Amino acid sequence: MNNDVIGYKIDNNIVDLQTVKTKNIDISNAEPIYFNDSEDALEIIRHSAAHLMAQAIKELYPDAKFYIGPTIENGFYYDLKTQTPISDKDLKGIEKKMKALAKKKIPIERYEISKAEAVEKFKDDELKQEVLKMIPGDVVSIYRQGDFEDLCRGPHVPNTKYLQNVKLQKVAGAYLGGDSQNEMLTRIYGTAFATKEALAKYLKMLEEALKRDHRKLGKELELWMFDEEVAPGMPIWLPKGAMLRSNLEKLLFSAHIRRYYDPVRGPELLKSDMWKISGHYYNYKENMYFTEIEKDEEGKEAEEYGIKPMNCLAHVKIFAHKTRSYKELPLRFFEFGTVHRHEKSGVLHGLLRVREFTQDDAHIFCRPDQIEEEVIKVLDFVDTIMQKFGFTYEMEISTRPEKSIGSDEIWERATNALKQALNKLNKNYGVDEGGGAFYGPKIDIKITDAIGRKWQCGTIQVDFNLPERFDITYVDENNERKRPVMIHRAIIGSFERFIAILTEHYAGEFPTFIAPIKAIFVPINEKHINYTKEIQKELLEDDIKTEIFASNDSLNKRIRNAEKQKVGYVVIVGDEEVENGLVAIRDRKKREQYKMKKGEFVEMIKKLSEVKI
Ligand SMILES: [Zn+2]
Ligand SMILES: [Zn+2]
Repeated sequence: MNNDVIGYKIDNNIVDLQTVKTKNIDISNAEPIYFNDSEDALEIIRHSAAHLMAQAIKELYPDAKFYIGPTIENGFYYDLKTQTPISDKDLKGIEKKMKALAKKKIPIERYEISKAEAVEKFKDDELKQEVLKMIPGDVVSIYRQGDFEDLCRGPHVPNTKYLQNVKLQKVAGAYLGGDSQNEMLTRIYGTAFATKEALAKYLKMLEEALKRDHRKLGKELELWMFDEEVAPGMPIWLPKGAMLRSNLEKLLFSAHIRRYYDPVRGPELLKSDMWKISGHYYNYKENMYFTEIEKDEEGKEAEEYGIKPMNCLAHVKIFAHKTRSYKELPLRFFEFGTVHRHEKSGVLHGLLRVREFTQDDAHIFCRPDQIEEEVIKVLDFVDTIMQKFGFTYEMEISTRPEKSIGSDEIWERATNALKQALNKLNKNYGVDEGGGAFYGPKIDIKITDAIGRKWQCGTIQVDFNLPERFDITYVDENNERKRPVMIHRAIIGSFERFIAILTEHYAGEFPTFIAPIKAIFVPINEKHINYTKEIQKELLEDDIKTEIFASNDSLNKRIRNAEKQKVGYVVIVGDEEVENGLVAIRDRKKREQYKMKKGEFVEMIKKLSEVKI
């Protein structure tokens, strides 16, 4: 089956065999799509799986009516309605029916009718009437498999035997057309793969991801919380989470200083006039929060201010507050800048999607001929950080879009500088032609975590626009005013998002260099408590936090509770340890137990915590 062709790629469009046949399409130059787990093949397989699910539901619930069933990242869904409601517990039965239909190798056929005929054909189906309203043109295509027919553009596999590796995942509600004024339909999510192995691997990854879910671990390890009474989407950091974050901040602060960046800090609120100059007031307003503050002068009305959604403007002002010479460039300003961006409540998701977050933001002001060298330095910085956390990553350049500002020359120069920088470092990268922002090309950095998931984190963005809008200049060697280029860059992206990713990447077992609590002491009984307190105090001298579990619980229970905190070292102290100046360690990472001199232990923890990058 692996060598079977299930479709073709023509001008970047996927066309199925049925369409090739019914429309007599020339495939002499087309690229065949084979039945495997490639992205293109999965597109065909998953869309067909959505239809197979609809066919199965129609057999089990004959009154079922279907709206739309697209593919999504990692799977598909179908929106539908039935008289008897479908819930999660019904999915097994539907899946079983799907597998039975798949085994029958039912051919999937395509034919066309006029839209008027389609309106008549589906006259008792109000959902299909809604779909028909959305289809442009006078001709519609219909796919048929057995007794089941559906309005559809395709693409589909030739017959149902290609759909044996399917999994239905969950039932949710979805408003018809996404409009909360409309009726609520049932949405069923599922996924499908070409091979059994790929499906099994994916399901295993999902299971692992569930265990690592940062929302679950954030609660269990008491790192952060959300409180609807305070504000949705605004994280509240609990002591251990704040310590974790602070460890990360310290590490990154020093890493910036060591790379010749200057720390700066701008205000949270800026007058709306500033956002008008930058353009945010016109292009980004619905994502911003505004407030009014009375003008200082008497008799004047209130003036509008915007809470910053990015940190750039104050940095531009810092550049412009005095005359800058070419000799000073590049200038590198960095700020752990807290920003607010409005997100709809439906998309808020733990620490990954929030309304308030803090970026590791920096702006490099340089001459156009310095872009390449600066980008090389940033890429090297990225590499150091990602290696430290054990992430692999990939990069993509986005080039000039149709609608853009700046001369051809400067675009070419900046884009080439980005490419040259990547080439000099021997980095592989993808190119998203025309995918850049209107004000300059960029490099996006996508990291891969311990269980193979990809996350978009940092970006390096060249900007010709803001220097222009704020008319900032430097004086060159001929005493002429010249326009600097601005490079916006964030490496981890935001502390919130990165900590969510780190929590899932490490499954809550943070390495000692960022762990909020480096060790938990468990004194065997009361007379050993003082000994643990002494070690604790010694470590506090170096800002290293530990905990002592000395409650009335039994020793075993305290050890178990300590291990549940996922700290690197659980340290047990009894008579023997106190008499000989030792500690008994349960080492989480090495999965070993051993004893050490107290002083050696303190030195080891200090050394592991004192990382510089
Ligand atoms: Zn379809
Ligand atoms: Zn910026």
